[in-house]
Amino acid sequence: MSKKFRKIGILTSGGDAQGMNAAIRAVTRKAIDCGIEVVGIIGGYSGLIKDNTIPLTSRSVSNIITHGGTMLYSDRCLEFKTEEGMQRAIEVCKKNEIDAIVAIGGDGTFRGATDLTWRGIPTIGVPGTIDNDITATDYSIGFDTAMNAVVDCVDRLRDTCESHARCNVVEVMGRHCGEIALETAIACGAVACAIAEVPFDEEACINKINELKADGKRGMIVIVSEGVFDADGKPYGEGLRKRIEERTGVESKFARLAHLVRGGSPTLRDRSTASKMGAKAVELLLEGKSNVVICEVDGSIVPIDISFALIADRLYKNTLKEGDLDKFTEEQVNEMKLIAEKRRKEVAERYDLINQIAN
Ligand code: ADP
Repeated sequence: MSKKFRKIGILTSGGDAQGMNAAIRAVTRKAIDCGIEVVGIIGGYSGLIKDNTIPLTSRSVSNIITHGGTMLYSDRCLEFKTEEGMQRAIEVCKKNEIDAIVAIGGDGTFRGATDLTWRGIPTIGVPGTIDNDITATDYSIGFDTAMNAVVDCVDRLRDTCESHARCNVVEVMGRHCGEIALETAIACGAVACAIAEVPFDEEACINKINELKADGKRGMIVIVSEGVFDADGKPYGEGLRKRIEERTGVESKFARLAHLVRGGSPTLRDRSTASKMGAKAVELLLEGKSNVVICEVDGSIVPIDISFALIADRLYKNTLKEGDLDKFTEEQVNEMKLIAEKRRKEVAERYDLINQIAN
C-alpha cells in the first residue's frame, strides 16, 4: 500500500443517480479492506468547502445498496469553481488529512476532480448520471434504473392508451443526451422517438400515426427527450401532442416523467456496476493513478484520463472550444474520433430500429 493514502474522502456531486450508494459502499469497504480510513463528504463540493465530513465505517454503509439517492447528499456548488473556493477545499483536505478523493457524478464533477488533482489532491471520478451522457464510458451508474422506471410508467400509460385508443407523448430526462429516450422507445414499443442528436421528422411521425390508426392500432406512445425544443425554445413534447391530436384525430395526452425516474431502488445492473467501479477507483488510487474516470468499455472496467474523457465528450457533442485538442497527440485525437463515431453509429442504428419496428 502506498504510504500517501492513509485516508480518502468520497463525495457525490451534481444530479443524483440510483446506484451512487452502492458505489459509496464499495469505495468505503474496499478502502477499509486495504487499511485506509474513509470520510464521507456531505453535500458534494459544497460540503468540502464547508468542512462537512463524517467518518465512514463498514457499518455506516450497511443496508444502503438497495437505496436510491445518495446517503452523502448532492449539491451544485458555484463557489467551488472559483479560485477562493478551490483553495478552501484544499485547506479542508489538508486539515482533515484527506490524501485523495473519489468523486461520483457527471462531467461537471469530473472538471472539479481535475482541479483538485492539479492542486495536489489526487482524485478519481466514478460516472454516476442517469443520462448516460459521458461519451468515454459505455455506461454510467443510474442509467438502467432510470430506464426501467420509464418503462414501468410507460407500460401503465400504454394500458390506458389501448383502452381509449389514445396517443401518449412522454417526455423523459436527458438534457444533452437522448440515450434514455432511445433505449426506452425501443423497450416500450414507441411509434416514434425525438432526440436532440437526430433531426426529428414530425411529418413522418404524423403520417405514421394516421397509417397505424387506419390499420386498427389503438394505443400509441411517442417518446421525446427533454433536450428537444421547438422553434420558440419551448419543450417539444407538449406542442407535438397538440399537433398529433389536430392532424390525426387521435386523442393525445402528454406526460412529463421528470424526476419520477431518478429515484427508487437501483437495479442489479446499477448495483453491480457501481460496486465494480467503486472498488476499481480505490485500487487505482493505490497504484498511484489519479485524474482518471472509471469507464465501462466493451464490458471491461477501465480507467480513462479525465481530460481525455472530457474533450472526447465535447468532440462527440460538437462543443469543442478553440485549442481543446492542442494538448493531445494525433493518436489520442484519432482515438477520440473513433469513440465519437462509435456513439453516433449506435445512436443512428437504434433510431432507425425504432422506425423499422413501429408498425
Ligand atoms: P454533473 O457532475 O452531474 O455534470 P454539474 O455540471 O452540476 O453536475 O457539476 C457538479 C459540480 O461540479 C458543480 O456544482 C461544481 O461544483 C463542480 N464543477 C462543475 N464544473 C466545474 C469546473 N469547470 N471546474 C470546477 N468545478 C466544476
